[in-house]
Amino acid sequence: MAAACIFCKIIKGEIPSLKLFESEKTLAFLDIGPLSKGHSLVIPKYHGAKLHDIPDDQLSEVLSVAKKIAVAQDLKDYNILQNNGRLAHQEVDHVHFHVIPKPNEQEGLG
Ligand code: 5GP
Ligand code: ZN
Repeated sequence: MAAACIFCKIIKGEIPSLKLFESEKTLAFLDIGPLSKGHSLVIPKYHGAKLHDIPDDQLSEVLSVAKKIAVAQDLKDYNILQNNGRLAHQEVDHVHFHVIPKPNEQEGLG
C-alpha cells in the first residue's frame, strides 16, 4: 500500500468506486472517465507503479478477472490495455489493466 496512491485508497475504501469484482489479491472497478460504457480497471492489490514492479504471484489473477468481466458484460469486441510510464500515457502509478468495450455504432459511445 502507498499512502498517496488513489488506487490504494480505492482498495482501502477511502475513495468510493463501483466495484465489479474483489478477491484477496485483485480488485476490478468501473473507470471514472470511461472511454465507452462499462470501461473498467483491473488491479492487483499489491502496490507497484509498473508491470515489472509486481511479483508474479500478485499478478496471476488479473487477466482471468479481465476475462470474467468480458464474459459477464457479454463483450464481443474490446481492448485490454495496460500503460507503463508517462511516455506510454500512464497517469495513475498503480498497475492497472483497462477493459474497454468497443460497442457498435447502434449502441452509441465508443
Ligand atoms: P492510465 O492513463 O494511467 O492508464 O489510466 C488511468 C485511468 O484511471 C483513467 O482511465 C482514469 O479515468 C482512471 N481514474 C483516475 N482516477 C480515478 C478514480 O479516482 N476512480 C476511478 N474509478 N478511476 C480513476
Ligand atoms: Zn497503489
